[in-house]
Amino acid sequence: MVSKSSQIKLLTAMSLFGFIVIFPFGIYRILTNDYAVAILDCVISSAMLGIFLFVRKTHNIFYASLFLCTLCNLGVLYTLHLKGSEQVVWAFPALVLSFYLLSPKVAITINSITGVVITALIFGHANPTTFAASIMTLIMTNLFAWSFSTQANKHSLELNNIANNDALTGCRNRRALNQKIESVVTKNQQQPEPMSLILFDIDHFKAINDEHGHDVGDQILCRLVLVMNQRIRISDDLYRIGGEEFLILPIDSDHNGAKKLAEELRIRVMEDFEMSEYSVTISLGVAQYDKEETPESWLKRADEALYSAKRSGRNQTQIAPSGVTK
Ligand code: GH3
Ligand code: MG
Ligand code: MG
Repeated sequence: MVSKSSQIKLLTAMSLFGFIVIFPFGIYRILTNDYAVAILDCVISSAMLGIFLFVRKTHNIFYASLFLCTLCNLGVLYTLHLKGSEQVVWAFPALVLSFYLLSPKVAITINSITGVVITALIFGHANPTTFAASIMTLIMTNLFAWSFSTQANKHSLELNNIANNDALTGCRNRRALNQKIESVVTKNQQQPEPMSLILFDIDHFKAINDEHGHDVGDQILCRLVLVMNQRIRISDDLYRIGGEEFLILPIDSDHNGAKKLAEELRIRVMEDFEMSEYSVTISLGVAQYDKEETPESWLKRADEALYSAKRSGRNQTQIAPSGVTK
């Protein structure tokens, strides 16, 4: 299975190409009175046009992929039924397409059903050697495609994980934040609701490193993430965006609600580390999203609030005034 953007491109290109190529054949079949094939060509070319328009409008690739693969499989079966067992060769590209567009589980289900129907259709019509060879090659192609697709999916998940998570603390990284903030801002511009973010930074972390060593500094970073996650289950929303700088997004609340949460976290961190041999505190900046501002402006306002918390003595939360940076 390929990435969503590649799938959108592939589906729109394939469906448009399919429509342009198959539709004239449908017309030709009607003109030559070959109505059985004409029906097949017209149904498939109309469906291709439908898929093209649907994917362009909705970007919903799951249903479009499922529909396209089912259609191709039905097309193979209908062709086999009309033209005889030698048409089984068309099953190979159709079954590989299922693995290309769908998850291995869905693909193997569709292909298995098609395989059973193909067996029933060609049984007794092809000579025994051709029948056995067709079934064996279908099974083998399915198994290889399934194994390849499963491996590719696993690697894609692993790569995604490496690309979006911080190796030390396991929380999400700057790259993941960039994607997330773009999507929440776009959503909020369509459906405005109060939403905020919290930016925080460990106080005097350099001194902690200098005094206790870099390894202890690393342990403190991991401990901090653990404290945050244990307390309020924000594992999906916590981003490490710099050495000792973190961000929580989105918070479905105005700046007052977000400040309350920020203060809870600040106290929780302070209390947790009071019990250890290192004294660790954090300073926090809260910014409520200003209507129609850019992600950069929102982050900049939070950064200014954090800077203000640092200047005012650290171990505290400051709220960003609205509309200062545009
Ligand atoms: P402030 O209160 O103003 O934030 O002071 P600070 O000392 O925390 O800030 P500063 O920017 O001067 O220093 C940040 C330190 O964070 C310096 C750097 O060595 C340390 N640091 C950055 N990334 C890591 C990391 O992954 N592990 C460890 N142990 N230290 C890190
Ligand atoms: Mg710091
Ligand atoms: Mg810093």
